[in-house]
Amino acid sequence: MSLWKHYHLPRSIEEAVELLNRYDGQARVVGGGTDLILEMQAGHGPSVEALVDPTCIPGLDQIVEEAPYLVIGAGVTHSQITTDPRVVRGGTCLGESCGVIGGPQVRNVATLAGNIAHAMPAADGSIGLLALGGEVEIAGIQVAPADSEVVRRWVPLDKAFLGPGKSAIDSTRELITRLRFVPTRAGEGSAFKRVMRPQGVALPMINMAVLLRLDGTGQQVLGARVTIGPAGPRPFLATQTMDFLSGRPAVDETFARAAQVAQREVGLRSSRHRATQEYRAEMIRTLLPKTMAEAAERARAGPGT
Ligand SMILES: Cc1cc2nc3c(=O)[nH]c(=O)nc-3n(C[C@H](O)[C@H](O)[C@H](O)COP(=O)(O)OP(=O)(O)OC[C@H]3O[C@@H](n4cnc5c(N)ncnc54)[C@H](O)[C@@H]3O)c2cc1C
Repeated sequence: MSLWKHYHLPRSIEEAVELLNRYDGQARVVGGGTDLILEMQAGHGPSVEALVDPTCIPGLDQIVEEAPYLVIGAGVTHSQITTDPRVVRGGTCLGESCGVIGGPQVRNVATLAGNIAHAMPAADGSIGLLALGGEVEIAGIQVAPADSEVVRRWVPLDKAFLGPGKSAIDSTRELITRLRFVPTRAGEGSAFKRVMRPQGVALPMINMAVLLRLDGTGQQVLGARVTIGPAGPRPFLATQTMDFLSGRPAVDETFARAAQVAQREVGLRSSRHRATQEYRAEMIRTLLPKTMAEAAERARAGPGT
């Protein structure tokens, strides 16, 4: 039995939204299909009449600069992101996070938009983009009394996740069109690290990303963003750790103490296939300070290093 009846390749965002509207909940957006098709084949998730694939909409397959942002289209693959010099330079932790997703075959078709819409707490791309303070553009139909029109709105990335596998974006009625972040400037640097089983599972045992902003001397932290997954029902923004870092010396002792704060604020649990709670806590103790130190090193070295 076929898993869907129709596969649509709209040529504009309006056409994509109108298709979803016409199917009235019976169609679903697909990107690379590396999560969705596997789930459908396994019998998880509702069956659909149609798939709507926005990856061929002109412009959505590109990464473009729209000052002050770097904007990533919904059709952009992890391979494109990882090899884009502007991402490597100004969104280092995102490039690193997309660069470890699956293998080359997965990265050549899978999209960052799909990684985010899938809403897994330890999705690598989501953890990387969240550390950069990313935003997501959502397109959908707004039904007005007399007419309906396609509307697009930007929302902060942390508002896109409701729970494990539960996205705030209803992929049967609306779609992610673009993602954006402000690239790091002089005095800022970011880093991503993760621990992964060598094979058999698609998500890491634990991952983390750090963005640090240092003062002109490179000695003091002025601001930080820290993300960890899985550390709760959604990709986790470690706000207490961020607050702790702010204003402190950018040295190993600070980073070790910040990791203790992170250990206290995260909600870790054991998972049969991936890792125990204790192992994850230990990885926060050991790996998070290293991630911070690397972000600090990059902030001191300047953009492009
Ligand atoms: C072998 C293998 C290894 C993997 N390894 C990793 C890994 O190491 N780390 C990791 O994080 N993930 C991993 N994954 C999961 C997956 O590859 C990623 O999450 C990927 O980014 C999903 O993107 P996609 O374009 O394939 O999404 P799809 O499978 O097409 O879609 C995923 C979900 O997002 C929705 N969706 C897709 N695009 C949009 C859009 N534009 N707007 C609205 N909704 C949309 C779909 O309806 C679906 O619900 C792995 C998967 C496989 C098969």
